Amino acid sequence: MMNKTCKTCGKDFEINEKDLVLYQQVNALPPKHCRDCRIMRRLAFRNERTFYKRPCDLCKKDMISLYSADSPFPVYCHECWWSDAWDPKSFGQEYDSNRSFLEQYQELQKKVPRLALMMLNSVRSEYTNGASDNKDSYLIFAAEYNEDCMYSRLIQRCKNCLDCSVIYDSELCYECLDSRECFKCLYCEQCQSSSDLIFCYNMRNSSNCIFCTNGRNMSNSIFNVKYSKEEFEKKKAEIFANYESIEKAKQEYAELKAKTIVKYASQTKCNNATGDYLHNCYDGVYLFDTADAKNCSYMGDAESPIDSIDCNNYYYKCELCYNMMGILQSSKCKNCAYVFYCNEVEYSENCHNLTSAFGCNAIRKGQYMILNKQYEKAEYEKIKNEIVEKMKQENVYDDFFPPALSPFGFNETLGYDFYPISKEEALNKGFNWQDRTTGTYGKETIEEGAVPESIEGVTEDILKEILACTDCKKNFRITQAELNFYKRMNLPIPHKDFECRNKDRMQRKNPRKLWHRKCMKDGCKNEFETAYSPERKEIIYCETCYQQEVY
Ligand SMILES: [Zn+2]
Ligand SMILES: [Zn+2]
Ligand SMILES: [Zn+2]
Ligand SMILES: [Zn+2]
Repeated sequence: MMNKTCKTCGKDFEINEKDLVLYQQVNALPPKHCRDCRIMRRLAFRNERTFYKRPCDLCKKDMISLYSADSPFPVYCHECWWSDAWDPKSFGQEYDSNRSFLEQYQELQKKVPRLALMMLNSVRSEYTNGASDNKDSYLIFAAEYNEDCMYSRLIQRCKNCLDCSVIYDSELCYECLDSRECFKCLYCEQCQSSSDLIFCYNMRNSSNCIFCTNGRNMSNSIFNVKYSKEEFEKKKAEIFANYESIEKAKQEYAELKAKTIVKYASQTKCNNATGDYLHNCYDGVYLFDTADAKNCSYMGDAESPIDSIDCNNYYYKCELCYNMMGILQSSKCKNCAYVFYCNEVEYSENCHNLTSAFGCNAIRKGQYMILNKQYEKAEYEKIKNEIVEKMKQENVYDDFFPPALSPFGFNETLGYDFYPISKEEALNKGFNWQDRTTGTYGKETIEEGAVPESIEGVTEDILKEILACTDCKKNFRITQAELNFYKRMNLPIPHKDFECRNKDRMQRKNPRKLWHRKCMKDGCKNEFETAYSPERKEIIYCETCYQQEVY
């Protein structure tokens, strides 16, 4: 066990024996920052949803980009960035051993062109990011193989879904969270292999249920009680009568969920893992929204990672990495952002197919490179060791990139979603801040009270109107595909913009924090780590007691 004081926030934290073994395995120094500060630094490099219109700095065509027009570096469109019209190696810099390495890396960072968006193989889906293989989709993020989906994040292989988060293989869903293989489900959480569920929690193989929880093979039920088809339809019509009746139902669902029995964590097929929203994870602590992890700790949004620690948005069998953000199939890398198919790379960003490199940016294929400059193997090793030694002396080696090196304002990133700190606090911690807000305010053409309360009678004229969000007052519009969806599903026009809807949905998820608690079933002595804080009203059961309750 090692006791440390966080370099950024001054909080004391512990590094236990198991963590130390893993840090050794990935060849990293024990961290100098606490868990929260480590996560914040990584998440500060992930802008998923703030888009700007700006020209490509090479072909000059207008495009959608994650970077505002006044960013200090050039930004290229997809075609230009991947073309041979420029060479990332032409920006190569000689390492100056008299100056700080990170300062030199920052100079390189300001010169090298960045890719406008992370989007691949998509059709008619310009407003998507961290996304690939999507069709006719709009404002979806961390999303693969979807069709006709809108306003959602972390969705895969879905069709016709709107306003959902963390859903897989589903169709015609609305406002669903953490669900799989669902059809026509509305306002549901943690449901699987089910259809026509409304305001339901943790259902399996069920259909036509309203306000039901923990049901297995259940049908035509309201509040877990069987009803006739007519009574069911009557209740459904009552809920979806208008905007206000839905808001009332949301409240009713929240009260229902607060009294329900929940499993201490959403974990399936896991062994010796702590965290929440996990599937098939073995041996690890503080894992969130992660699947198929083996011997990994402190991970978020990861799939099939092996022997790694402190990584976020980490996919396709990465192994032996430390402190990484946005990675595909890489191994033995440390302190990188957006490196794909890389090995033994440190302090690099936006690189592909790179092996043995340090401080590189936008390299598309290479080996033995430092600051985008090519070396022979021996020379590379010598300079790299020199840099590492100097960084160790400066007490910064194996820290993630300093927050100031993020190309985004903290308030544009996932960091702000999980840690909504003030501008002042962000600046104090060294993060950047984006003052230029996207979108408009006060330009609405329709007053809040004049937005139709039900979809009946709403005509295509609504597409010409500018609405204002009831929460943040930002203006927004309704798209044609969106209107078609509301009409088909008999849903009213939303009163909030996409950002506020996303925020509301994220708040329904458990926080990425753990508390040590006891099973609340009388007589049970089991204890566990849970993301349900002690103030929460839900009845928390251990795995065994929960299974007895639902089956
Ligand atoms: Zn800290
Ligand atoms: Zn271009
Ligand atoms: Zn809003
Ligand atoms: Zn128990």
